[in-house]
Amino acid sequence: MTSRPTDVVVVGAGIIGCAVACELARRGASVQLVDERQAGMGATQASAGMLAPYKEASAGSPLLDFAVRSLDLFDDFVTRASSDSGVAVPYRRTGTIDVALQEGAMGKLRATAALLASRGVAAEIVDGHTARGEEPHLTADVIGGLLIPAHGFVAAGDLTRALATSARRHGTQVIEGGRVVRIAPAGGDMLVATERGTLTGNAVVLAAGSWSGQIDIAGLVARVPVRPVRGQLLRLGWNGAALRRVTWSDRCYLVPWDDGTLLVGATAEDAGFDERATAAGVRDLLEAACDVVPHAWAAGFLGARVGLRPATPDDLPIIGASHVLPNLFYATGHYRSGILLAPLTAQLVADAMLDGRIDPALAALRPQRFGDV
Ligand SMILES: Cc1cc2nc3c(=O)[nH]c(=O)nc-3n(C[C@H](O)[C@H](O)[C@H](O)COP(=O)(O)OP(=O)(O)OC[C@H]3O[C@@H](n4cnc5c(N)ncnc54)[C@H](O)[C@@H]3O)c2cc1C
Repeated sequence: MTSRPTDVVVVGAGIIGCAVACELARRGASVQLVDERQAGMGATQASAGMLAPYKEASAGSPLLDFAVRSLDLFDDFVTRASSDSGVAVPYRRTGTIDVALQEGAMGKLRATAALLASRGVAAEIVDGHTARGEEPHLTADVIGGLLIPAHGFVAAGDLTRALATSARRHGTQVIEGGRVVRIAPAGGDMLVATERGTLTGNAVVLAAGSWSGQIDIAGLVARVPVRPVRGQLLRLGWNGAALRRVTWSDRCYLVPWDDGTLLVGATAEDAGFDERATAAGVRDLLEAACDVVPHAWAAGFLGARVGLRPATPDDLPIIGASHVLPNLFYATGHYRSGILLAPLTAQLVADAMLDGRIDPALAALRPQRFGDV
């Protein structure tokens, strides 16, 4: 950043763009948030909203510490988004259970438990009998499981709506239906050309998820290497007593909502920018769910949601200023964890842009690891 920006254009209103816009506006910046669709209709609308850093991150990955820090911010993040906006945001910290149906899977759970114990994280290995006591709908084939009480889930769509509303209440102009075609520096300003006119700011945050490498940027030859990984997720109408917590097997996860909806996720497919559900995806997820919770065969089928996760070559997000255009900031590539990582991403982007404070955690996430972008 050349100097503290006062006018920021945020491109992309998924959870990341909305969280960043909200934080910048709350700290006094004048913000325009632009999306080609309605806010939250990219990958974010498909998300299961799980907040489970100890599941997705592996030992030694910088993502684990980043995700754990972000989870620590979640109580305040949800409370503030909800109270600033008046939008209710369902949010639960009821933990997770990861179940094993064979000894090989059980060995992996024991290794995860040992890793968590070395970090002082509460986690408990249970046998099949205890696992079924915790979750009576589990199949009798379950031989054991791993309980992690710190995990939780949030309604990602409601949270994004709350962030967008709260950004508006802090003065952000939210522009929906404005596809950005080009970003270009002009004097000390940054011009953001959309199909409906040009926006001007003195800094830009590129938070366009899977599409972040598709936008023309004057003066840049290379693009951030973000690619779409399609995820399909089912919504089932569960009958009877709900599961108590997020439940994983090695083929799917199940997220129980108070209204009786059970989310079943998720596929991971290289399908380009195709956002359609497929018969194969729906069948695979239904079979995987019924293998672990046979009562799911009796559930109603409410629909399938599809989103394109923004993946990067090293599975880490890209957060930081462009090497070439210092007034262009990236906040993208959050792949499987964008909901979980939103609070810390927003905080560190605002710290860097408005206060020039670069958190050490951003060193591993710098855009420059992918060249002159
Ligand atoms: C099935 C599934 C389940 C998931 N489950 C979880 C989970 O349990 N927990 C978790 O933490 N994460 C989960 N994720 C990942 C999470 O959803 C993503 O990491 C997150 O939504 C990425 O947010 P984003 O704002 O970067 O991208 P998006 O939500 O995709 O937002 C990008 C926005 O940019 C806009 N845009 C693109 N191009 C342009 C343009 N040229 N001009 C203007 N606007 C543009 C798009 O319209 C879109 O709204 C899941 C994802 C999927 C698909």
